[in-house]
Amino acid sequence: MSANGTLMSEWKLRERMCEIGRRVYAKGFAAANDGNISMRLGENRVLCTPTRVSKGFMKPDDLCIVDLEGNQLAGTRKRSSEILLHLSILKARPDVNSCVHCHPPHATAFAVAHEPIPKCTMPEFEVFLGEVAITPYETPGTQAFANTVLPYIKDTDTIILANHGTITAGVDLEDAYFKTEIIDAYCRILILTKQLGRVNYYSDEKAAELIKIKPGLGIRDARLERGLENCDLCGNSLFREGYSDFKPEPHAFIPAKYQDQQRSTGSAHADQAAGGDVESLVAAITDQVMRALAGVPA
Ligand SMILES: [Zn+2]
Repeated sequence: MSANGTLMSEWKLRERMCEIGRRVYAKGFAAANDGNISMRLGENRVLCTPTRVSKGFMKPDDLCIVDLEGNQLAGTRKRSSEILLHLSILKARPDVNSCVHCHPPHATAFAVAHEPIPKCTMPEFEVFLGEVAITPYETPGTQAFANTVLPYIKDTDTIILANHGTITAGVDLEDAYFKTEIIDAYCRILILTKQLGRVNYYSDEKAAELIKIKPGLGIRDARLERGLENCDLCGNSLFREGYSDFKPEPHAFIPAKYQDQQRSTGSAHADQAAGGDVESLVAAITDQVMRALAGVPA
């Protein structure tokens, strides 16, 4: 009876994974056969999507089972080569049971631009996602690629993979998938706002108020553990150490306080130099005109 119960629940999970696959495909988050999904079944058993099958057309029997090293334990189709990325997260985070990896276009635009995901613009994003990291680029399917998430995954469930896509982690399939929906919706709003030409940010103090709501909703935020006063809430401080030699600098989305800093350093010098050049040019021309008027040879 209990064996039957276990089988039933695994079949339900397979159906649920196919449903999440249909949503990933219908939302345009994974073209053709792109993307992959995983779900922990037991201590060393992980249900995952097969390679070369569209996430929009999967049947429960198409799914594979692997161990935490990526060895295939069950399934007639070959497991996804990107399962190593999921396993990195499942091994590092015992609280995570499911991961969704795909290429949602708006979030992937930030991945290609290496643009850090800005904060202090929308309260829902701050509460439900919080800090998002960008990994350095590596060739997909390799162990080196799977390792790129390790410096960040302790502190966030949402990671942008440079020049590639996203991976989101959750307690179950739906939780992991919803984080993909939220990051892409947020990036879409940011791109639209940028097209209007003006991005407004709220303050670090207002960001702190939002972060303090999270424990009451059962949502962890690493910045509360470190002390909010130690974090640059509207900047990108939490992941600076993890970036090592890869430090994505904001280019399109720079909060007001950093714009002021830029103005007082870089562009101030440029203004001075330009001002100096114009002054000496005017002096030289005036001198020549005065000499000509006075009949003095130049
Ligand atoms: Zn991919």
